[in-house]
Amino acid sequence: MAKLVDLSHEIEHGMVTYRGLPSPTISDWLSRDASTARYAPGTTFQIGKIELLANTGTYIDAPFHRYEDGRDVAGYALEAVADLAGVVVRATVGGGAKRAIDAAHFKGADVKGKAVLVHTGWDKHWRSDTYSSGQHPFLTKDAAEHLARSGAILVGIDSLNIDDDKDGTRPAHTILLGAGVAIVEHMTRLADLPETGFRFFAVPPRVRGMGSFPVRAFARVDT
Ligand SMILES: [Zn+2]
Repeated sequence: MAKLVDLSHEIEHGMVTYRGLPSPTISDWLSRDASTARYAPGTTFQIGKIELLANTGTYIDAPFHRYEDGRDVAGYALEAVADLAGVVVRATVGGGAKRAIDAAHFKGADVKGKAVLVHTGWDKHWRSDTYSSGQHPFLTKDAAEHLARSGAILVGIDSLNIDDDKDGTRPAHTILLGAGVAIVEHMTRLADLPETGFRFFAVPPRVRGMGSFPVRAFARVDT
């Protein structure tokens, strides 16, 4: 037996993921009313349209997000983003001065070949002013180096950004994406996962030319 745990935020019209970046615009391309002219009486359809910044809601980053010659989201093999052995690392460090998650948090965790999900608890601030107040937890450079060196294949976090947004060199993105390690940001409900004993999925659509894209991130937990 297994249960599925949704680790994604909902995306809706006008919501803010990053303060200052555009919100998604969701509309009818074909409204239900307008569709009555196209189909038999009593038969209607709606065809929606969305204008969506790649970095909206819960999304995956591909190397192209950081590197011009890196692969884009369509370049991910399913094996890189689906049915991955998962491990959760608890790092509820809080905000403010204690928001840096360093390599010491990962010592002792078997991350080789795994999706490593970093549980900070910052998702409780999702869509509040605090979420993007510049106080979010992030991975330090040495944590990113440790994870890349130890053979993690994906690193997820339930925070605004895997990097400190005050560090313009973005060491976690630079090191992880440079090593071909996928990143998933703005996750949620990691508290509902066990530390081990689950499979992880974060599959983007096969859109060419995108370095990031929203995913329905979820876990299948053995029970
Ligand atoms: Zn990112």
